[in-house]
Amino acid sequence: MTPLTITVNSEAETCQLGQQLARALAPGTVVGLDGPLGAGKTTLVRSIVAALGANPRQVASPTFVLMHQYEARTPIYHFDAYRLKSANEFWELGIQDYFESAGISIIEWASRVAECLPDDHILGRAELTGESSRQWFWNATGSRSAEILRKLESSWQSRAI
Ligand code: ADP
Ligand code: MG
Repeated sequence: MTPLTITVNSEAETCQLGQQLARALAPGTVVGLDGPLGAGKTTLVRSIVAALGANPRQVASPTFVLMHQYEARTPIYHFDAYRLKSANEFWELGIQDYFESAGISIIEWASRVAECLPDDHILGRAELTGESSRQWFWNATGSRSAEILRKLESSWQSRAI
């Protein structure tokens, strides 16, 4: 399947993307994020947290804790695999329980723990294409996540610019 490609030209547009993704997400969804430092992964998480009704100022970057939990309309579990030494360390956080819960799990630096992610998850990868422009490539690895990306695609296309 070809990825859903979304170009954003400012930090504000990354926030719009996060807001639209938040509306498309379903309880239990797992979202992996990849891309270099400064790509906007944490910015995206912050806008998802805000869209789902929690305080976006709680969302910190860089993270010195491996998991942050936000009491949004659906609980959000925010992981950052940057500092992990091994995938094993990720397992030891009890990620399985989070993934199987009704909360939304979001993992920055997901490719570092790719083998730990559930069969059906969303993967977003951002590339820096300019000082304030980013290109996002979104992939779904199962039918539930594909449905979410379909929603995101149609809402992104019809958004008010
Ligand atoms: P990451 O978590 O991927 O390392 P952050 O979201 O923490 O990235 O930081 C992104 C940085 O890039 C911020 O300083 C932000 O102001 C800047 N920035 C510039 N353009 C954008 C954009 N289009 N989207 C997101 N952040 C951007
Ligand atoms: Mg980050």
